[in-house]
Amino acid sequence: KTVATRLTSLLRDSDTVARLGGDEFTVILEDIRDIQSIAQVAKKIIDSLAGMMRIGEHDVYVTASVGISVYPEDGQDVQTLLMNADTAMYRAKEQGKNTFRFFTADMNTATLERMRLETSLHQAINNNEMQVYYQPKYELRTGRMNGLEALLRWQHPEKGMISPAVFIPLAEETGFIKQLGDWALESACQQIERWNRMGVHDLAVSVNLSPVQLNYSNPLHTIDRCLQRLDIRPEQLELEITESGLMQDENNAIALLHQFKERGVRIALDDFGTGYSSLAYLRRFPIDTLKIDRSFIRDLEQDEESILMLESIIRLAQNLKLGIVAEGIETEQQLKILRTLGCEMVQGFYFAKPSAADTAIAFFLSQQNDEHAIAS
Ligand code: C2E
Ligand code: MG
Ligand code: MG
Repeated sequence: KTVATRLTSLLRDSDTVARLGGDEFTVILEDIRDIQSIAQVAKKIIDSLAGMMRIGEHDVYVTASVGISVYPEDGQDVQTLLMNADTAMYRAKEQGKNTFRFFTADMNTATLERMRLETSLHQAINNNEMQVYYQPKYELRTGRMNGLEALLRWQHPEKGMISPAVFIPLAEETGFIKQLGDWALESACQQIERWNRMGVHDLAVSVNLSPVQLNYSNPLHTIDRCLQRLDIRPEQLELEITESGLMQDENNAIALLHQFKERGVRIALDDFGTGYSSLAYLRRFPIDTLKIDRSFIRDLEQDEESILMLESIIRLAQNLKLGIVAEGIETEQQLKILRTLGCEMVQGFYFAKPSAADTAIAFFLSQQNDEHAIAS
């Protein structure tokens, strides 16, 4: 209702505002003189929605993504115009949201491509095209590998290896992430069990949980099932969540996190430093570990300020008695700096890339003879 009010108050009486479904509104602007004035209106709409909204006792912030199609260039009938505006809106979302895009013909090719990818994604699990890779994590003080992060890989029959950076957002948009996320969780737990059987007991595996899983499905069912049926200990499982997952419905997220904790499963806050990094979250949510985002590590060697920022985050984590993992370490110099700053755990291509389970565990097994322990 608030969005509707803001939209109508901003447009002319001769314009049409409609809500066709869900969180999508449609606006028809008539008698527009030129493209520039459409862009101006789109910008005004985005700005007017960006302000805070109060719902009950909650302050919420929304952003808008606007897609524009123009009659008659982009379609002669309502259906085509709506469809093309929709395509343009998805493009606006992809390109960072909170922005507007005009429809262009090449978007249709991209949409088609995307629809094909979407269809094959839905079959990927059944077709055995999904795989979980593992990237080792090391404790800096001892130089020993003490955990791994589970990372999805999609081996597409025609396109080859597709990055999760591509298919996770797609899966989130279509809701398929619920199945895919459950599958990843279960695969990782089965892998822990296999390693336990091999006599490897002291490695924790962290699994990424999408904000969509956290807010719109109940990963607890899968976790409980794994803990009950498989021969694994809850401390061997860690869940990586991001701030965006916590923000949507804080109370729900807090409750869920506490339920994870009751099981003995640990929780890491992933990509820390990129989102809102609200310190209140660190107090309110039962978090065990901070994972510092790769962007801080990347700039370490060029940028004095990055070192200061990193140092502050590490001190913060230490004072709050949180574990800390720096991810994305690629060079010896970066490692040196992290060591000086007293970072607890590290992960990155410098030590090992994500790889199939057998390769990843080989790093651990060979360190039994100390070869692969990183020099401390
Ligand atoms: P993330 O959870 O932050 O995972 C770390 C990403 O950084 C991984 O990318 C990893 O391969 C990459 N990385 C690690 N060390 C280095 C390094 O030294 N240099 C560089 N350049 N990159 C490094 P990946 O595997 O492509 O995954 C990307 C993202 O996809 C993950 O970011 C995570 O958000 C998401 N993802 C992956 N698997 C899953 C999953 O099972 N479920 C969910 N919900 N998300 C997943
Ligand atoms: Mg992660
Ligand atoms: Mg991360």
